[in-house]
Amino acid sequence: MEISQFKRFDMLKKPVRQRHFLRPLTWLISYPAVWAHRVKITKVEMQGIKPPYLLLCNHNAFIDFKITTAAIFPHRANYLVAIDGFIGREWLLRNVGCICKRKFTNDTVMIRHMKRVADNGDVIVLYPEARYSLCGTNAILPDSLGKLAKLLKIPVVTLIMHGHHVNSPFWNFGDRKVKHMEAVLTRLVTKDEINTLSFSEINERINMAFQYDDFAWQKDKNIRINYPDRAKGLHKVLYQCPHCYTEYRMMSEGNKLMCDHCKKEWCMSEYGELSAVNGKTEFSHIPDWYEWEREQVRQEIESCAYRFESEVVVDSLPNAKGFVHLGKGTLIHDVNGFLLEGEYEGNPYSVIFNAKSLYSCHIEYNYLGKHGDCVDLNTLTDTYYIYPKCDNFSVTKIALATEEIYKMWRSGLVPSIPSVKFQ
Ligand SMILES: [Zn+2]
Repeated sequence: MEISQFKRFDMLKKPVRQRHFLRPLTWLISYPAVWAHRVKITKVEMQGIKPPYLLLCNHNAFIDFKITTAAIFPHRANYLVAIDGFIGREWLLRNVGCICKRKFTNDTVMIRHMKRVADNGDVIVLYPEARYSLCGTNAILPDSLGKLAKLLKIPVVTLIMHGHHVNSPFWNFGDRKVKHMEAVLTRLVTKDEINTLSFSEINERINMAFQYDDFAWQKDKNIRINYPDRAKGLHKVLYQCPHCYTEYRMMSEGNKLMCDHCKKEWCMSEYGELSAVNGKTEFSHIPDWYEWEREQVRQEIESCAYRFESEVVVDSLPNAKGFVHLGKGTLIHDVNGFLLEGEYEGNPYSVIFNAKSLYSCHIEYNYLGKHGDCVDLNTLTDTYYIYPKCDNFSVTKIALATEEIYKMWRSGLVPSIPSVKFQ
C-alpha cells in the first residue's frame, strides 16, 4: 500500500457541543487538581464577558486542560486538540467538545469549525503555542491569530497559568505537588475593538499577554520544590555546555546537571536556580541558558553552517486509530525546511515541510517513555513522528532552529544556501 492510500481522520466532521451528560464528568476530573494545587484563579476585566469568546491559553502540562475547565466554569467550550491526543479515544474527545487539528498547520476547515462554535455561543479554547513549553517560558505564536480573531468577530480572552511547568516539566513529567499555582483570565480584546483594531494590533496584545516565565514565577513566589530528582531530564533542554560549548554531551541526575566533555557540574536548587559546583555560574536562570542556545543556533544559521541530516525511523498517524510504522527513512533540515524521504512497502515517499509556514515544531523527549526523542511534523492530512537514529543530535536544537529559520523568513533575512535536495 502507498501511504497516500491510508484512511484519513475525518477533519470535516462538525464539532459537537459538549454533551450535557459529560459536563459533570469534566468538572469531576478537573476540580480535584484545582483544590490539590490550591490554584488561585483571577479574573481581569471579565465583567460582562460571556461566551462566545476566543480563549487563548499558555501550554505547559496536562493540568492546563483541568484548570481551563475550572476557569471558564460553568460555560461550555470546544477545544482544539492535536490528533495525537485522539488516539483510541475519538468518541470521548469529540463528545466533550474537542476538535481535532494537526499541529502547526494552517487550516481553513478549522476556521469553519470555530465559527460554528461561536454561533453555538460557546468558548473556543486554543493553545496557540501548540506544544508544551520546553522550559516554562512563552513560545513563538503564529501571526494568524489576529486574523482569526477578526474573522470570528468575538472577544479575545487569555488564560495564563503559572506553576504548571515547575510542577510537571516537559523534560521530566510527574507531579511535584506545587501549591498556590495561579491562573489569570484576562479580557484582551472586546467585541467592539475586534472591528476597530487591525490584526497586527491584536497580535501585539496577544504577544504581550503571552509573556511568562515559570522559573521566575517560582523564585518570585518563593516556592520550594524538594523533589530529589528535580534536575533529571534537564539536559534534554540544556543540551549545550556554556563552559566548553560542546553540544549533546550534557547529562543529568538527581539535582545535578553535568557536561560529559569538560566535566563541569551545576546544582539545581529547591527554588529552581542553577549554580556551578566549581567556578563561574554561567546561567543561574534556566530560561537564560535556553535562550543562549537559541542564539548559538541563530548564529549557525546565519553563517550557513546549520544543517541536520540523519537516518530516522518514522511512525505516521493518518487517523486516530493508532500509529502506522513506516520504517526507516531520511530526514534533512535546513533553511528551506524539512525533507522526509523513505519507502513504505516498496513505495517511495517524500514529504516537504516548508520553513516559511512552520513557526515551530513539536518535539518529544523519549516519547511515551520508551520510543526515544522525536520530531513531530504535520501536513494537513498526516502527522509524522520522526525518530533520528544518529549519535549526536538534539530535538531541542531542531525546534530552536525551526523557530529561528521561520523568524528569518518572516523578516526576509534568510541566508541563501541552495539545497540540492530541495530544488
Ligand atoms: Zn562542557
